[in-house]
Amino acid sequence: MVSTTSSSSRRTAISVLVALGLVGIAMVSLGATGFAVKQVSGHPLAILEEVPGPDTGPTCAVDKRYVDEATSGMRPDVIEAWNTLRAKAKAQNVELCVNDGKRSRSQQQQEFDKAVQRFGSVEQAKKWALQPETSMHVKGIAVDIQPQNSAAWVDKNGGALGWCRRYDNEKWHFEYDPAWATGGCPPRLPSATGN
Ligand SMILES: [Zn+2]
Repeated sequence: MVSTTSSSSRRTAISVLVALGLVGIAMVSLGATGFAVKQVSGHPLAILEEVPGPDTGPTCAVDKRYVDEATSGMRPDVIEAWNTLRAKAKAQNVELCVNDGKRSRSQQQQEFDKAVQRFGSVEQAKKWALQPETSMHVKGIAVDIQPQNSAAWVDKNGGALGWCRRYDNEKWHFEYDPAWATGGCPPRLPSATGN
């Protein structure tokens, strides 16, 4: 009886220690995550802007001319909002493909450099491509949605979820801001480059 009790209380003690150990591990992991999140919220742009996105992705299931990139690198709340938007579209039999999502500063710089080569000068390139400091893809809040009928669906239905088309000349480019879900989309601009 005594021995049973003592062995059972030893088991209890061991269980408590194991449980405390697990809580400890959980707290350490949470702490690590919390630290990372705190860093990001302290300097959101400085850190996020260095994070690259995929250069490409699997072929878009509904239109082979496009790809469907992973959303990795985008701001975490934007990824969540994107998943919500995509699920809502899917429920209405509309497939959304991310033809382009996150870009790092250096990825955007490469795009700009290509434009300089193509158009012959920095001044000309600025009419067609954005530099890293002005691109919303670098800030991790923009997606280029394809195919075009899917983008049109988002233009019509995305605003209620904070997804708005921003430019007259880019039917595919959408940005996310939680304030737009309640306040409505901002007025559209002719282009991102002021062209
Ligand atoms: Zn875009």
